[in-house]
Amino acid sequence: MNQDNIFQKIINKKIKSELIYQDQYVTAFKDLFPKAPIHILVVPNILITSLDEINQKNKKILMYMYYAAIKITRMVKINISGYRLIMNCNPDSGQEIQHIHLHILGGQYLGPILSKI
Ligand code: AMP
Repeated sequence: MNQDNIFQKIINKKIKSELIYQDQYVTAFKDLFPKAPIHILVVPNILITSLDEINQKNKKILMYMYYAAIKITRMVKINISGYRLIMNCNPDSGQEIQHIHLHILGGQYLGPILSKI
């Protein structure tokens, strides 16, 4: 396991974060540089560096991440107004941290899913 991964340090409480939720599978905390009024990241407690590392053995983690995200949207009361869930994978997506993470974005109208390239 890569101990230098910043999300791993957050999960293990070696560096501070605004923790929102934690269970045996996932940890969720506020994004340090929020792109919406609500911007929370859900990460697996085990290191999986990108979505391209998902396989038959570890695929259930995606269910735990999405279910935690759905529960969190209810906790922070954006489930009715709406929200967007995003996962980036590898360089063309702009993935910065090599530890899969699900972005929960909400708290205002988010506009189109992508601006025109
Ligand atoms: P991505 O571009 O999909 O890899 O997203 C990485 C996200 O991690 C970005 O939205 C960053 O703002 C966020 N981020 C980076 N460092 C931290 C940190 N220490 N605590 C919380 N969020 C962070």
